[in-house]
Amino acid sequence: MKKTFLRACMLGLIVIALAGCGNEGVVTADHNDVPEPVDNVPVSEEPVKEVPVVESTVTKKPEVMDVVTDLDYEKIRPDESGEIMIIMYHNLSEKNMTYSRTIDSFKSDLQRLYDMGFSAVSMRDYINGKFDVEAGRTPVVLTFDDGHRTNFNYLETDDGLLIDPDCVVGILDAFYVENPLFGKAAVFYLNAGNPFGQPKYIEQKLLYLHEQGYEIGNHAYNHEDLSEMDADGIQKALGKNVQHFNKLNSDLVMESLALPYGKGPQNEALKIYALNGRYEGFEYNNQTVLRVGWKPYLPVYHMDFSQSGVHRVQSGDADMQLSWWLDEYEKNPQRKFISDGLENRISIPSVHLDRINLDAISDKELFEYTLEDL
Ligand SMILES: [Zn+2]
Repeated sequence: MKKTFLRACMLGLIVIALAGCGNEGVVTADHNDVPEPVDNVPVSEEPVKEVPVVESTVTKKPEVMDVVTDLDYEKIRPDESGEIMIIMYHNLSEKNMTYSRTIDSFKSDLQRLYDMGFSAVSMRDYINGKFDVEAGRTPVVLTFDDGHRTNFNYLETDDGLLIDPDCVVGILDAFYVENPLFGKAAVFYLNAGNPFGQPKYIEQKLLYLHEQGYEIGNHAYNHEDLSEMDADGIQKALGKNVQHFNKLNSDLVMESLALPYGKGPQNEALKIYALNGRYEGFEYNNQTVLRVGWKPYLPVYHMDFSQSGVHRVQSGDADMQLSWWLDEYEKNPQRKFISDGLENRISIPSVHLDRINLDAISDKELFEYTLEDL
C-alpha cells in the first residue's frame, strides 16, 4: 500500500487548488484541508524508480504542489469527470411496461446497481457536485415521476400506519438498512393533483420524506406541456406547484424540474422560465431541468454540462434503458464517474483534465494525477 502510494507520488501527483473559480492566473491554495507534506511519509525500504514528473496542462497557471494523500490512486483510479446516471422511474406495477416496473425488477435494479459499485445520492449533491460516497464508488440519482401511490403508500393496520414494504420508499428504506454503502436518496417529481394517492396522509408523507433525506421536485402544477405555453403559462404551471407544496411543507424545497412529457419551452427566449420565474409573487429556481431520456449525464462542472438539458436513463430492459446501460458499464467501466471519496476534491486523471469547466468547480479543489499507464 505504502509502496504503491509513494510510486504514485513519484509519478507526478499534482494538486491544482482553485479558490474562487473563474479567476485568471495563480490562485492561492487553501492549505487547511491538505494532508502532511510528502517528506513526512515513512520511506519505503525498496528504492523508488525514477520517473519524470508530469507537467500540468492547465492553461490558467494554477499553483502546483506535491501533496500526500492516503488514497491509493493507483488502485482506486478515481475519475470525477466520468458519467453519472440519473435514472427515471414512474410507477411500480404487476408488469414491466414503458412507465412501470415490477417490485421484483425494481429490487433487482437496486441490487445490480449496488453490486456494480453505485451509491444513491441526492439531487442536491448532484447540483453541488459534492458526493458523499466511498472511494471507488459511482454516484447515481434515483428519480420518480408523477407521484404514484406505489412510490409512497401507507398501510392502515391495527398497530397504526405502516409504510408499505413494497412501495418505493419502503423498498429504499429497507435496502439502505441492508446495504448502508448504497446510501438513501431519491427525488420524487410531483404535481399538485393527488400526489402519492392518499390525500389525507400527504402532509405526513412529505414530512417523512424530508426527515429521511428524500427530496421532491417540480413536475408542473397540472402536468402541463410546457412546449405549448407562453412565459406567463410556464411561470404559472411551475410557480403554482411550488406554492402548493410550500403550503404543505415549507421545509421541502423544489430546486429541480422534471419536464412533463419530456417537453420544454418551445424557444430560447422561453427556456429561462423553466429555470427561474415568479407566480403571484412566489419565486422558483430550478438548478437542473431533466429530460426524459436516454443516456447517462455528466457532473455539473463538466464542459458539456447544461442545466437546461439534463438527460436521464429510463428504467427498463430495452435498448438504451437502465439494464442496457449497466451492460455497457460492465464492458466499459472507465466511462463511469469514479469517486475519490472526498467531497471537496475533484480528482481527475490528467488525460481528462480538458473535460473540466474551471468556472464551475466552485469551492472545490481540482486534483490532477497521472499514473504510468493512463
Ligand atoms: Zn410525468
